[in-house]
Amino acid sequence: MAKKYVYLFGGKKADGKADMKELLGGKGANLAEMCNLKIPVPAGFTITTEVCTYYYKNNKKYPTELKKQVETALAEVEKIMGMKFGDAKNPLLVSVRSGARSSMPGMMETVLNVGLCSKTIPGLIKKTNNPRFVYDAYRRLIMMYSDVVMEKAAGIEPEEGQGIRTQLDKMLEEVKHKKGYKSDADLTTEDLMDLCEKFKKKVKDVLKKEFPDDAKEQLWGGIGAVFASWNGKRAVSYRRIEGIPDDWGTAVNVQAMVFGNMGDTSATGVAFTRNPATGENVFYGEWLPNAQGEDVVAGIRTPNPLNEATKNEHNKHLPSLEKAMPSVYKELLKIRTTLEKHYKDMQDIEFTIQEGRLWMLQCRVGKRTGTAALNMAMDMLKEKLITESQAVLRVSPAQLDELLHPIVDPAAEKNATILAKGLPAGPGGACGEIVFTANDAVLEAKKGKKVILVREETNPEDVEGMRAAVGILTARGGMTSHAALVARGWGKCCIVGCGAIKIDVKKGVMEIGEKSFKKGDFLTLNGTKGYVYEGKLKMADSSENPRFVNFMKLVDKFRTLNVRTNADTPEDASKALEFGAEGIGLFRTEHMFYGKNSEEPLFRLRKMIISKTKEERIKALNELFPYVKKDIKNTLAVMKGLPVTIRLLDPPLHEFVPNKEDERKKLAKSLGISFEEFEKRAEALHEINPMMGHRGVRLGISYPEITEMQIRAILEAAAELINEKKKVAVEVMIPVVCTKAELDHQKLIFDAVYAEVLKKYKLKKLDVLFGTMIEIPRAALTAGKLAETAEFFSFGTNDLTQMGFGFSRDDFGSFLPDYLDNKILPKDPFQTLDQEGIGELIQFGIERGRKTRQNLKVGICGEHGGDPASVEFCHKAGFNYVSCSPYRVPVARLAAAQAAIKFPIKKAAKK
Ligand code: PEP
Ligand code: MG
Repeated sequence: MAKKYVYLFGGKKADGKADMKELLGGKGANLAEMCNLKIPVPAGFTITTEVCTYYYKNNKKYPTELKKQVETALAEVEKIMGMKFGDAKNPLLVSVRSGARSSMPGMMETVLNVGLCSKTIPGLIKKTNNPRFVYDAYRRLIMMYSDVVMEKAAGIEPEEGQGIRTQLDKMLEEVKHKKGYKSDADLTTEDLMDLCEKFKKKVKDVLKKEFPDDAKEQLWGGIGAVFASWNGKRAVSYRRIEGIPDDWGTAVNVQAMVFGNMGDTSATGVAFTRNPATGENVFYGEWLPNAQGEDVVAGIRTPNPLNEATKNEHNKHLPSLEKAMPSVYKELLKIRTTLEKHYKDMQDIEFTIQEGRLWMLQCRVGKRTGTAALNMAMDMLKEKLITESQAVLRVSPAQLDELLHPIVDPAAEKNATILAKGLPAGPGGACGEIVFTANDAVLEAKKGKKVILVREETNPEDVEGMRAAVGILTARGGMTSHAALVARGWGKCCIVGCGAIKIDVKKGVMEIGEKSFKKGDFLTLNGTKGYVYEGKLKMADSSENPRFVNFMKLVDKFRTLNVRTNADTPEDASKALEFGAEGIGLFRTEHMFYGKNSEEPLFRLRKMIISKTKEERIKALNELFPYVKKDIKNTLAVMKGLPVTIRLLDPPLHEFVPNKEDERKKLAKSLGISFEEFEKRAEALHEINPMMGHRGVRLGISYPEITEMQIRAILEAAAELINEKKKVAVEVMIPVVCTKAELDHQKLIFDAVYAEVLKKYKLKKLDVLFGTMIEIPRAALTAGKLAETAEFFSFGTNDLTQMGFGFSRDDFGSFLPDYLDNKILPKDPFQTLDQEGIGELIQFGIERGRKTRQNLKVGICGEHGGDPASVEFCHKAGFNYVSCSPYRVPVARLAAAQAAIKFPIKKAAKK
């Protein structure tokens, strides 16, 4: 039997269903599911994603069976709808839309009103008795088709502002202007007929091709254009950003047209079953009477509110659907309930009302802000719509991260004057320099600038610029416009429909009232309220959402992995504790020599570094000792008995030698040596490759007294706290180890100091472990031996990645983009753990380590400890804990819980 490439839906039944997204795309699968739920959906068919993959693998050819399957399906659609495609008397019109597995709003193409041509136009006029409607539909077809099929899909790349669509738009505006019309609705039948003729001429002039006057030709043109748009520029960019694989392909949905522009009893709208910005359990949306769907999404007219409850400042004067068409609204409300009960999640829906009859055109899980995701998860749990584990899975780590993102400082905002108001499309605050093009946004952001992308309208073409900007501001568009959806999905601060701004891209200026702004001027946006401010306003942490605390409690119910933090000051440690850290996984001792209050200990460290003889060094170490001990004691005290891993010094030595002459002289004097001698010693410290040089344990091998001082400082700090009746749990960690002999050498020192400290403080024992970092591939490979001495491993995946790949941590950034662009690497391996290679080293290390020491404690303290995908790996690999910077602790907790739900481990790792 021939492979099935085409799936029919309509007449309250369908070939497909919701769980066939891979094959039918999200849109196709959900259209089928709605039919199965007996919800009114115009009949149609879905051409599978396999056809798209086939098309790209076979030089843009379709499988031979496709044509026949499309024709058979079209005949079925004709039967269900009681109309015929291309028929002179009773013509069926169709829409041709994309639909990938995961939603890519506005990134691919759509053609509506396909099938209108000189043969079908008279029949449709006769049938509808509405010539104006027919010519309006025809001019829309010409505009879309010429843009999507004849220009974009044909690979024509016009200059900015010279695209066929823009040229036709201009012609339309000219007619309106000349005749003094306010809106498109004022255009008469004659105007539209005239425009259609002129449009076709223009298309011929510009694109050198006749506009096709055959229904079937239009249909196949549309199908081809949707497949072509899978590899369009903005779809490719969006896939890169969202990590959607190129080989998924898109499906194509061909569906009977229903019309929202057939007069006052017709309408079109977009709605969310709950508020996507706040999560509030209210039916929320926008609609336009006598319009086609694209009008709402394109933001050409200010849309009306769906109901009375959700009216806002911008649309309160407009009638709601609830009031204007109460019975249709009621039916829609019922569908809202059916869909939420069925999908158990907030749905984003599109509908059309044709002469009083409601049709559903789409439903999909709605994109939402982090706040909305959190609120909906907790509400739906309370409503018993979802289970606890489902609630935990409902908030992505990125959304949680967004909740922790800055807002405009409320105090600063209170004193500031609002420059303009728009619709609050994306959450939080943003402050940055104005740019007017997506390109500029990308360029300036690359230079490290924070930019606000200001555009006339929400244009999906701008996706890369939107990503690069910290905030987005547009003059036109509604809450459901494409860019608003995209920005919200990313949790990016975004204001749309800010009518007060007048932009002149060519001149690079924007006017708001009397004021003029140019590229590089600063703006501050409050995306939660839709307010625009001049200049820079102070930013603040997102206010505490009480739901956040409860959600995190729920998260911790599921987690088997512990989450610690990388912190080396009492302040950072306290912050991390607030965020739920369960210990410190990495205390970098060298931190005390940087920043605030570091001069004195730094001077002594420098003395120690520049010392030549053991006597000199011991003298300097003795001076350094009280600083180190105090620093460690303060942090241990804050952690109140939670485990704290203190890593012995691991600095590149030459970095600590001062450059300034007066400081060099002061050091020489303090050491009692000549300046010449000092210079000689400093020169000797210089290393060609300090990352692989005399650092970490290697220092302790050369100068055991350095190790001894540190261990004494740690253990005495712990002993003092014990004697002060405080709790402590310390882990002493040796860095840059690659052989067991190194570790044994250091362990001897540890044992000796341990005994001395017990004696000095009259203690029987101290809660202390001795362990090692695994950050050199050889250490991972010899982990079985290292575990004979080490009581714990902490994977230093920064260095393990550096040395595993041989990529310098500090220089990789310069050629990383080439690796990503050429798909040599899927992601930056310093950000997301390379599971294939470095992950293999880690797994090998754990396996060997635990073979030797069954209860070996295993953690990670490289930057990957806060990366959700890497946390999932750590869960699966049997780690005891991950450790990350304080602000990433909640994200790591959530990622760990989600990993535990998705990949239950029979025997939970011992904490
Ligand atoms: C590591 O290498 O992963 C690590 C945590 O140590 P550092 O970043 O200090 O080298
Ligand atoms: Mg390291």
